[in-house]
Amino acid sequence: MKGAQVYEGKAKKVFATEDPALLIVSYKDDATAFNGLKRGTIEGKGAVNNRMSNALMRLLERNGVPTHFVRELSERETLVKRVEIVPLEVIVRNIAAGSFAKRYGVEEGVVFPAPTIEFSYKNDALGDPLLNAYHALALGLATAAELEEIKALSFRINELLRAFWAGCGVTLVDFKLEFGRLPGGGIVLADEISPDTCRLWDSETGKKLDKDRFRRDLGGVEDAYREIMARLEGQLGAEA
Ligand code: 5GP
Repeated sequence: MKGAQVYEGKAKKVFATEDPALLIVSYKDDATAFNGLKRGTIEGKGAVNNRMSNALMRLLERNGVPTHFVRELSERETLVKRVEIVPLEVIVRNIAAGSFAKRYGVEEGVVFPAPTIEFSYKNDALGDPLLNAYHALALGLATAAELEEIKALSFRINELLRAFWAGCGVTLVDFKLEFGRLPGGGIVLADEISPDTCRLWDSETGKKLDKDRFRRDLGGVEDAYREIMARLEGQLGAEA
């Protein structure tokens, strides 16, 4: 049963349950960008993000990647394991886009010879600054062993997701992950994997099917969320 609200973020609310080891995540349609400066609503987003994230976490679990996912409760709500979030945003990129393209003066769309990884410090007040593994150690955000585990899991997740999306006719450009520590120890994938946290481009046309449509005022935001969900469901149906 859903207990008291323990947290409200920009896109999700988190509730306690009768079991102290479990939480309920509830996905909202609220959208923000640029550290909360841009705000809006994307109708239906909460349901898409919940169902997509759960489908992808199940796929990762089947392939040996531990996640916080327990069970989908409804269109917008999911039961997850309670974890202590490692305060790092882990970003894996296959193709130059967004802040990478801007920071390094690279044209969006340039394909990397191998995937890249970077960390930022999950801290809204500081604007989530980029940091390296030594900085993360200096700040005590994670241990060296945890950072190694996070890196290995992130690249493995990239391989699995890239292959899945390729089957949907979609190119996985980049994405952000967050990890958590289980009470008994061990790192698991937490947060969400959705069009809010991934760049997903149609492999044929390059059409953006993700939150960049909202961030950059490209229009057709709701349609893009519906389309990417339909692609995922089509592929899951084909695999079943
Ligand atoms: P960039 O650093 O280029 O802005 O983002 C890289 C990737 O990570 C994109 O797929 C983007 O959606 C995701 N990402 C980075 N930071 C955030 C964040 O604070 N919130 C969300 N939802 N996604 C992020």
